[in-house]
Amino acid sequence: MCGIVGGVSERNVVSIIIEGLSRLEYRGYDSVGVAVINAGGELTRERVTGRVKELAQKCASDHFKGTIGIGHTRWATHGGVSETNAHPHFSANNLAVVHNGIIENYAELREELEKTGAIFQTTIDSEVIAYHIARERVNTSSIEKAVARAMQKIKRAYSLIVMSPRKLIGARDPYGFKPLC
Ligand code: GLU
Repeated sequence: MCGIVGGVSERNVVSIIIEGLSRLEYRGYDSVGVAVINAGGELTRERVTGRVKELAQKCASDHFKGTIGIGHTRWATHGGVSETNAHPHFSANNLAVVHNGIIENYAELREELEKTGAIFQTTIDSEVIAYHIARERVNTSSIEKAVARAMQKIKRAYSLIVMSPRKLIGARDPYGFKPLC
């Protein structure tokens, strides 16, 4: 069973996220990843199909840091075990998502999104969430509203964290969503 973790701090959060992922290791996983928003406001990520320790080594560079971030240990349900399929997943416009569980209606949502121009990097269910929220974001006044609207269409079962430039939003079915900071 996979796990998700998010963090916001005045200092670099990478080691905090890695620590959180280490604590989730006992649940089992096949790949692991972390994303942060760097000082330039860009989404950046590192992923491995190995252990948290290997991810920590990959993240050790001085260039990989930020004060807001999310992490994920994956247990693949849709699509093979690969670095590309590992979370976090990004939408084209600065949203990142980590997702635990399955999206039953992802094929239908994907088809709809492709018709409006979305180009997916993977075939997995979780990536659809990022694009779906991004599309809702275009016509809503806040990221919280976009997540809430997107969630009305996403069919079970999940928990997720969405990272937008200044916020983390946590959500889980069937308990609604919660801005974390
Ligand atoms: N369904 C997602 C995937 O295949 C998430 C699996 C999980 O809970 O780790 O990547």
